[in-house]
Amino acid sequence: MKTSLRHTNFELQGTLLQDEPLSKHTSFRIGGAARYFVKPKSVEDVSNAIAFAQSQELSWHVLGNGTNILFPDHGFDGVIIHLGPSTDLNQVTIEDDRLYAEAGASLATARHLSEKSGFGAMDFLVGIPATLGGALAMNAGIPEGAIGDLVTSVIALDHNGKLQQLSQAECEFGYRSSRIRREQMVVLAAQLDLTQGVDWDKFALMLRRKQQPNGYSPGCVFKNPSLSPQSAGWLIDKSGLKGYNVGDAQVSCSHANFILNRGQARSADVLALIDIVREKVYKEFNLELNLELEVVLN
Ligand SMILES: Cc1cc2nc3c(=O)[nH]c(=O)nc-3n(C[C@H](O)[C@H](O)[C@H](O)COP(=O)(O)OP(=O)(O)OC[C@H]3O[C@@H](n4cnc5c(N)ncnc54)[C@H](O)[C@@H]3O)c2cc1C
Repeated sequence: MKTSLRHTNFELQGTLLQDEPLSKHTSFRIGGAARYFVKPKSVEDVSNAIAFAQSQELSWHVLGNGTNILFPDHGFDGVIIHLGPSTDLNQVTIEDDRLYAEAGASLATARHLSEKSGFGAMDFLVGIPATLGGALAMNAGIPEGAIGDLVTSVIALDHNGKLQQLSQAECEFGYRSSRIRREQMVVLAAQLDLTQGVDWDKFALMLRRKQQPNGYSPGCVFKNPSLSPQSAGWLIDKSGLKGYNVGDAQVSCSHANFILNRGQARSADVLALIDIVREKVYKEFNLELNLELEVVLN
């Protein structure tokens, strides 16, 4: 079945929604409506969605599982391309010691499959509620390593919708950063080398996961500053901000680098709280905190 938009030449094999609340698609449960929300069924759908946005002079943005993103209260006046586990681009296979996954695959599914096939290479990614595409864009991981360490190649569309194959080096992975994110590419699929290892501490990871609060929140809001041996969470805690709130947005009492939506938090509350945290930490420690959370402005 094809969905299409009257008065335009935008045709899709997948689903097209209009005025879709973004709060339904983010772990923060915050965000107004997206003018267009596309659930692609094929790579062609993804490039058609980009071409449509460009032809209408609209912004576009890719969304995975929405676990590291804050949308504005007034919504997104453009095209959201949702590559999540509920779309058709979610396949994961393993051949020999290589894992091949499409962008919408859940990282947990990919990790389970690699474990079942006798490879522990992805075990350090346990507990990260990402899609493969979101994990690669963010270079998600833990202090000892990140998903980029396992990558052999990534297939992506560049910002103009042109197909690219990138090697690990060409992805320019860094601490919660990548060329994919910087240049607003769309990951379609990737191959991981399951013989690569990250030397990590299982006990320390379990402890860290235990400190993470339950509730509506993304992961860590701030990156750990490179100029300090202390984590962003420690700096926020020592600035006396645990439990501090603006409206229903609150610095978590158990892990100070998490901000929780206690129910009715607006994007504006979160942004005001972020400013307060940054100012206080700067005043106390003379250190700038940079965002790990993707804040979408539109
Ligand atoms: C409880 C909890 C624990 C967490 N623990 C960790 C952790 O230990 N380590 C860690 O690194 N992160 C952690 N996170 C944060 C988050 O899960 C990661 O940043 C993850 O990589 C985001 O993936 P996503 O699919 O949800 O992406 P989204 O939040 O949907 O998007 C994040 C960014 O990725 C881009 N993106 C998404 N899909 C694609 C695609 N197909 N192609 C190109 N760009 C894309 C988006 O445009 C956006 O810029 C945690 C989050 C939560 C809620």
